[in-house]
This record gives sequence, structure tokens and C-alpha cells, in this order.
Amino acid sequence: MSTELMQEAAINLKKAIPLMLKHHIPATPINYALWYAYVAERQPSLNQQLDNIIAEHKTCSASNSTLLYREFVSDPVDIDVIDMRQNLEAMATELSQSLKDTNNDASHFQKKITSNFEKLSRIETEGVNLEKVLGLVRSMVKESDEIRSSTQYFTDHLQRAQQEIDTLKAQLKKSEKDVLFDALTQVLNRRAFDADLKGALNQAPEGLCLILIDIDHFKIFNDNYGHQLGDQVLKSVAKRLGESCKEGTKLYRYGGEEFVVIAANSELRKARQLAEAMRRALEKISVKDRRKNLMVNQITASFGVAQWQPSISPSQLISQSDTLLYEAKRLGRNRVMPILG
Ligand code: GH3
Ligand code: MG
Ligand code: MG
Repeated sequence: MSTELMQEAAINLKKAIPLMLKHHIPATPINYALWYAYVAERQPSLNQQLDNIIAEHKTCSASNSTLLYREFVSDPVDIDVIDMRQNLEAMATELSQSLKDTNNDASHFQKKITSNFEKLSRIETEGVNLEKVLGLVRSMVKESDEIRSSTQYFTDHLQRAQQEIDTLKAQLKKSEKDVLFDALTQVLNRRAFDADLKGALNQAPEGLCLILIDIDHFKIFNDNYGHQLGDQVLKSVAKRLGESCKEGTKLYRYGGEEFVVIAANSELRKARQLAEAMRRALEKISVKDRRKNLMVNQITASFGVAQWQPSISPSQLISQSDTLLYEAKRLGRNRVMPILG
């Protein structure tokens, strides 16, 4: 993100949070994104609708927020959570600073009041017009009360903002994770794979290998044992594959019953060996079919391994490993392709 954009985002944040506080909008990622879009003022009809809702109800209900969010702010995973997090962090730092400043101002004021009271009591003992003095005291008490409560309000306000920011940060951290991980198997997902592969090919492509993995006859497995046990198998497969991954290799769920490994800094022979070890590890899986009360242990997968070559694109590399995987299926499954001499 450029400095300019970063500044713009920070400015928007500073505008959005007080507005959310003012209108009693809970700090949820949806609301946050919505109000961020509102202060960005790029969609007049969003602002119009939100203004109307606030004018009518003094706040915006969760259901209205969700509707607006769906209409004007795109798919939640499209929000660049990482950028948002950075902005939040910058904002939290800034808020902590103003909180400190406010506290300093408050204690400075307190000191001043105390010294004024002392002065007043001196005047009193020195015998000045009592009525005048009392009048002064009264007005000072009133003034100090006002200032105290306004300072208190400001401090509360900031503290609340700080708390909401902490909540948001925690929520964003979670959505960051949700965006990159597969919910069923807990391994990295396709989105993470696409980003990582592109990044790796741009930065350190030399020796990079791809292992594409597809469980054999999984449709039949589901038909025979049910989808639930199928899910269980997917989890076990992910676990076994993950355990086989050493440093520099990362596992992803590519889709349905397909997984993919990026082996950085490797070579075809080494990656093929890794695939072979994975293939054997999967053969050892057994899951219990509770309905039939028997162990199922014939889970196998086929593997296609491809290696980076100069100027190959991510999709070409994927398609090469896919072709080899298809070969492995065609030759009878439960095997790794290519065969090396
Ligand atoms: P092949 O050996 O040729 O790969 O045969 P296959 O049956 O594995 O391949 P196919 O692509 O025809 O079917 C894949 C099956 O994987 C279909 C679908 O029911 C199953 N599947 C995909 N995702 C999931 C999932 O999340 N859970 C379960 N239980 N099954 C899934
Ligand atoms: Mg498949
Ligand atoms: Mg399959």
C-alpha cells in the first residue's frame, strides 16, 4: 500500500470510528467495513441510504447494516484484511497517545484548581468580602465540574474507542485466518495457495516443485460410507500429508478431495521422494465406520509432480502437474508420476 493510500485509510478510520460510536454501531467487521466505505464517500447512494436510516432510527440495525453491506461492500474476503489490520494498529497507537495527552491535560487542570482553591482560602482568612469570595468559589466549582465531566466524557470516549479497536483487531486476526485456512481440514486453502505460488515464482522460483494430490475413487468412498466419514478421511489425509511436510514445503487444500504441496528450493527427484513418502503414509490411514462397525483402511491417492522451468507461469506449472496426476490415474491410481529413470 502506498503512503498516500495508507494516509487516506488512516484518515477514513479516524472519521469512521467516532461516527460508529456516535450512532451506537457495534464494532463488527461488517459495520466497520460499511462505515469505512461511508466516510470514503465513493458511493453516494450508500451514504444517502445510510443517512436516511440514521435520520429515521438514530442508529443502523444489524439487519440494515448487513443489507447495505451486501449491496455496497463486496465479498468479505475481498476486504484486504492485512491492510486493515495495519491501519488499525497505526490508529491504536495514535489513540493511546491522545489518551495519554488527555490524562495529562486532566491532571494539569486538577493541579490548577487545587492551587486556586488554596488562593481563595487565603483570601478568605485575610478577610475579603465574603459574599464575593463565595460567588467566586461557586462559579469555580461549577466550572470545574463542567470541565471534569467533559474531560471524563472524552476519556471514556477514547477508552471505548480503544476497547473497540482491540475487539476489531481480534476479529480481524480471526478473519485473516479464516480467509487463508480451510475450515474442514485446517490446512491452508486455495486462496493461500494462489498467493503463495505467485509470490514464490516471482521471488525464488529456482528448484520449486509442485505436488498435486487427488484421493482415489473418493466418490465411491462417499457413496459406500457416507459423506461424514468422507469428511473424516479428508481430515486424516490432510493431517498425514501435513506431517510429511518438512521445512520449505507447504500443504494446501486445492479443492474437494485434492491437495497440493509447494516444495520450495527442491528438485524433481526430491519432490518425487516426498510424494512417494506421502503416498505410503496415506495407505496407512484407517477410519472407523460406526454404522457398519468396521475399520476402513483402503485410502489411496494419486500424485503428479512438476518442476519449475524458466519463464513458466503458475497456471502452466499447475497444468503440468495435473497432466501427470491424470497419467497416474490412468495407469491404475495410488502412484506418483513421473517415473524417473
Ligand atoms: P478419481 O480416482 O478419478 O479421482 O475418482 P474420484 O471419485 O475421487 O473423483 P471425482 O472427481 O469424480 O469425485 C470427487 C469426489 O470427492 C466427489 C465428491 O463427492 C467428493 N468430495 C469433494 N469434496 C468433498 C468434501 O468436502 N467432503 C466429502 N465427504 N467428499 C467430498
Ligand atoms: Mg478430483
Ligand atoms: Mg479423486
